[in-house]
Amino acid sequence: MKVCLNVMRVCLIFAIVIGFSAGSFAQKKVSITIDDVPNSMLYKSEGFRSRLLHMIDSMKLPVAIFINEVRIFDVEEADKALNLFDEWLASPNVIIGNHGYQHRMYSKEGIDSFQIDVLQGEAITSPLAKRYGKGENYYRFPYNDLGKDAAQHKQAADFLKSRSYIITPYTVHSDDWLVTQLYEYYKSHGRGKDAERIGKTFIDFTLKNFDYIESITDQKLGRNVSQIYLMHDNLLNADYLDELLTALMKRGYSFITLDEAMKDPVYKQQDYYEQRFGVSWVYRWIKDEKLRMQLMRAAPDSEAFEKELSQLKK
Ligand SMILES: [Zn+2]
Repeated sequence: MKVCLNVMRVCLIFAIVIGFSAGSFAQKKVSITIDDVPNSMLYKSEGFRSRLLHMIDSMKLPVAIFINEVRIFDVEEADKALNLFDEWLASPNVIIGNHGYQHRMYSKEGIDSFQIDVLQGEAITSPLAKRYGKGENYYRFPYNDLGKDAAQHKQAADFLKSRSYIITPYTVHSDDWLVTQLYEYYKSHGRGKDAERIGKTFIDFTLKNFDYIESITDQKLGRNVSQIYLMHDNLLNADYLDELLTALMKRGYSFITLDEAMKDPVYKQQDYYEQRFGVSWVYRWIKDEKLRMQLMRAAPDSEAFEKELSQLKK
């Protein structure tokens, strides 16, 4: 009888494991989030059109954008940049988030300037968003810098709560803000082949980051987590986002809204990380500091891109 029960138990466990892995492939989900919108300089350099936004709209790709309103004035033609800003807000595929009017670094500047940055942004974007029937419910910290210590973390969190903002996490990123500098350098210096090499390497690197973060969340939770990918409004993504999305789809990913991703109970977990660095929430949920450091160190790094860029700047 005992043997029989044990066999049944093994079978049951096996069925659950198989169930998870068979179901999980189809259930991979990711929400795409874009920071530092709008990129008025890129908009101007491409004849006042945003290929990134047009791609999103033509694919009906759900995205959340995080706005720095000050970027409208990065070009002389602020009236035209304002149109771009309005197009982003109006898009039915776009959820709107606050990223601080001028992207101030919270740990350095403190709570007063932090609050001003949030409110200045809100004063411009919220009323415009309402015209399109949208709210501005999300906030993402510039640099994902939530404060230098526990006290600062709490001050900002309390303030954001009082303004009904949801702090926006991310799980996967790929240092696209760094890689685009290299990519843009090669493109602007007529070195197309090098630019293409960087683009391809960037896709591989991003997929490696997805694999690595997935390996941690799969192991910890035994299921697929709704991932949140962080990227920026830049030339690299205007040129390579479609390729990245295709590669992700081949891996079984579907694309969901930020609202949907945030329904995953994983985002209710406690954040144990009380420093200023912009690390993934996957690490913030790990209480054991030693284990957290180990996992962070083992992650794919962007050192090769960084080295190549510093060589060019010499
Ligand atoms: Zn940013």
